[in-house]
Amino acid sequence: MEATLNFLGTGTSMGVPTLGCDCPVCTSLDPHDRRLRPSVALQWSEPQGGQNRVVVIDTGPDFREQMLHAGIPRVDAVFYTHAHADHILGMDDLRPLSFAAFKRGGPIPLFADPATSDVLTRIFDYTFSAHSTYPNKARVLLKPLQHSNQVHGADFIRVPLIHGDMEIVGYRFGNAAYLTDVSGIPEESFELLRGIDVLVLSSLRHVPHPSHATVGQALEWAARIGARQTWLTHIAHDLGHEDTNRQLPANVRLAYDGLSVPIIL
Ligand SMILES: [Zn+2]
Ligand SMILES: [Zn+2]
Repeated sequence: MEATLNFLGTGTSMGVPTLGCDCPVCTSLDPHDRRLRPSVALQWSEPQGGQNRVVVIDTGPDFREQMLHAGIPRVDAVFYTHAHADHILGMDDLRPLSFAAFKRGGPIPLFADPATSDVLTRIFDYTFSAHSTYPNKARVLLKPLQHSNQVHGADFIRVPLIHGDMEIVGYRFGNAAYLTDVSGIPEESFELLRGIDVLVLSSLRHVPHPSHATVGQALEWAARIGARQTWLTHIAHDLGHEDTNRQLPANVRLAYDGLSVPIIL
């Protein structure tokens, strides 16, 4: 199936511009240098019936604005990478979309590993607690993440990743993969990425960070994975869009908010 990968946000946890900062990137007039918190939406039409489907990976603090800006009117499922604030804090903004989903047939499934489910359950206690009496809680259902996860004819493969001292999750779907917040890629995960055409890989900045890849590290992994095109995301204010792109190999580019890439599911 043909699908579109839409970058809702490509910034690091603090976003770019970063509050209180007057560096050249934070004050840049280039719209590519404005980066909301990291998330992508995957959209496709089912071959039978032509029903539009939308899967979102992570719901960060900018989720509502991102969905309004992208004009995406529904969500069929969410996949979570890990439970840091920049990836989960917009979960509650699924509410109106979840009411519509519930009327169509059921709650929105949220796929998450046990560690992420634990944090979501604690932070959004009023949503997930069996004792919650809050009537307008999101109609969402936590689903234990499997190796292979089906959503309306699309298959999402769990790709284990290292993020500092945590094991987190990336996803492969069709000929593409979304790997964010990466500081290490286990050997077996390279196998799961074999043959992809479109790679999304996080790369924070040039200066080393304990839980994020530098541009240099990301380029090494990108070369080894060998996708036709690699898009870097989760970008800090150290990296200006134009300047950085000029220094990258031809098949690697910084992603930017609003970028749409065609893929095959
Ligand atoms: Zn992050
Ligand atoms: Zn700055």
